[in-house]
Amino acid sequence: MKTLLVGEYREGKLLNSTYELFGFASQFGGETAMLLVGSDAQLPAFDGTLYLADAAIYGEYNPDVHKKLILQVIDKEQPDAVVFIHSSYGWDLAPRIAANLKIGQVSEVVAITGIGFETCCCNGKMRRTVKPATGRTVLTIQAGAFPAVQPGGIPNVLKTVGDTASALNFTGYEPADKKGIDLAKADVIVSAGRGVGKKDNIPVIAALAKALGGELGASRPVVDAEWVTHDHQVGTTGQTVSPKLYVACGVSGAIQHLAGMKKSDFIIAVNKDKDAPIGEIADVLVVADVMQFVPALTAALTR
Ligand SMILES: Cc1cc2nc3c(=O)[nH]c(=O)nc-3n(C[C@H](O)[C@H](O)[C@H](O)COP(=O)(O)OP(=O)(O)OC[C@H]3O[C@@H](n4cnc5c(N)ncnc54)[C@H](O)[C@@H]3O)c2cc1C
Repeated sequence: MKTLLVGEYREGKLLNSTYELFGFASQFGGETAMLLVGSDAQLPAFDGTLYLADAAIYGEYNPDVHKKLILQVIDKEQPDAVVFIHSSYGWDLAPRIAANLKIGQVSEVVAITGIGFETCCCNGKMRRTVKPATGRTVLTIQAGAFPAVQPGGIPNVLKTVGDTASALNFTGYEPADKKGIDLAKADVIVSAGRGVGKKDNIPVIAALAKALGGELGASRPVVDAEWVTHDHQVGTTGQTVSPKLYVACGVSGAIQHLAGMKKSDFIIAVNKDKDAPIGEIADVLVVADVMQFVPALTAALTR
């Protein structure tokens, strides 16, 4: 078994998500090679072949050009799996590689099972297992689904050169207009999940956030229902946060939510279901009706 991992740089920095690729590879087993379009100023420590193409020449983001570099390395390495993070970089590149090689692709893998690869479906309510029908497969893995692993060692760096002709031109990054709150800077976040019940109950959760000197967070259904604005959303399609204290109120603990908050120092979950998945990562699980517990806690804190 051989895996080719395709890591990512942004603005000259190797993204931490690259280490999640190693986490995937350690579970997948076999030999690992990596391809990076980046710079030798920052390389991951691992004991394997590292194909390095210079981002100054090929651009940090150019699916057209990077596709050609990746195909070249696939030809050399003959891997069983080519793995990307399910990021805008990965989801642009993976289908191009799969289509070019006429091989199967499985997107947003969250686990490896004995049969195949597990992905989420039905808005995270269900999981399905997909077994590729081709010997070689292209995969994207969900951010946060696999542990970040730093294997250690010194890579055997092979400078990679290729064709720079492209129908696309990467012009650089621009920060998005910053509207609303920056949850990433908050020391305390109190998040409202669907279990809060209705929009009218949001101020109850916001009051606890205020009493704790923190910010209001939310799960995606709460945002989708327009109970709060998107800048409050925590998770893979919201913000990634790591506050000192995270209080999850009526949040079940779907993998996409956990990916955004599981690095919090201390997690308290309030859920009426003692078996809610959030309990697996929470330091404290309060089994209670959120609309009874939260106002009582806020009252005690502000007394
Ligand atoms: C591509 C993709 C991206 C996604 N991105 C995100 C993301 O960024 N962030 C995100 O959050 N989700 C995201 N999701 C959705 C995710 O899969 C879940 O559906 C979502 O996180 C569930 O939100 P929830 O926990 O609030 O709701 P639910 O899963 O419905 O859970 C509600 C919880 O509240 C509890 N509860 C109910 N009533 C009460 C009560 N009265 N008192 C106490 N507890 C109560 C229940 O026991 C349950 O555990 C994404 C999904 C997909 C497919």
